[in-house]
Amino acid sequence: MREVPVQRITEEVARLSQEANCDLPEGVEKALREAAEREESPVGREVLRSLAENALIARQDRMPICQDTGFSVVFVEVGQDVHLVGGNVYDAVNEGVRQGYREGFLRKSILDHPWQGKNTGDNTPAIVHLDIVPGDRVRLRFMPKGGGSENKSRLAMLRPADGLEGARRFVIETVEKAGPDACPPFIVGVGIGGTFDKVAFLAKKALLRPIGTFNSRPEVAEFERELLVAVNRLGLGPEGLGGRTTALWVAVEVSPRHIASFPVAVNIQCHAARVKEAVI
Ligand code: SF4
Repeated sequence: MREVPVQRITEEVARLSQEANCDLPEGVEKALREAAEREESPVGREVLRSLAENALIARQDRMPICQDTGFSVVFVEVGQDVHLVGGNVYDAVNEGVRQGYREGFLRKSILDHPWQGKNTGDNTPAIVHLDIVPGDRVRLRFMPKGGGSENKSRLAMLRPADGLEGARRFVIETVEKAGPDACPPFIVGVGIGGTFDKVAFLAKKALLRPIGTFNSRPEVAEFERELLVAVNRLGLGPEGLGGRTTALWVAVEVSPRHIASFPVAVNIQCHAARVKEAVI
């Protein structure tokens, strides 16, 4: 059994929260630049270049990529041979968020109650997805999730008869409805299967997949390719100003389903697709 003090989780979350907000993953920036080369619309090209430039300046000057520094979504994988000591893991994550958002001067966006809410003042509580995995390491992935793109995400409990075609229609319709408010170009996270709760988690988890990485199942990868082509035919374009680059990537995660259900969830991610990772 390997002992890991939860203080280490706090330190890493504090660091990741600042890094994630200022340092767009290289793959996303590269995808923006490559899309600018391909984009047919002059305005679209200009927007894509500006977004890539914005990411570069944010990294160099340690400034947030966007004013919406997000809900702190933290994926924690704990190896089953790890013994976490020194406190509660959820408290440790929240303390990391508290420190990171204070030290990084990041906007605090969380209300303590959905309709009587006042700002918690430190961007807590985080959304923590905790998973037990083989091994003796702790893996942390920090995703600041902006409200604009989250608001355009949708879930449908389709009928089994709707099948893959129904899922395709729902994904395309969701991207179309998302429009400029969700700050395209998007990364589209899709979950198919499981239950009402599981499918939403799958769609969120799909967003962790780096751009350019297909699902390991060939039939799912094929569906990802088809969806990317289809959403880019919509003509929404960068920031909704028209063009061929509505999405940079589509990632689909699947799960077994009940014979009577065909759940589909679409989690829209804007161009500020911020994720940072650490392994303890
Ligand atoms: S949707 Fe994304 S880019 Fe747009 S304001 Fe929100 S976090 Fe920023």
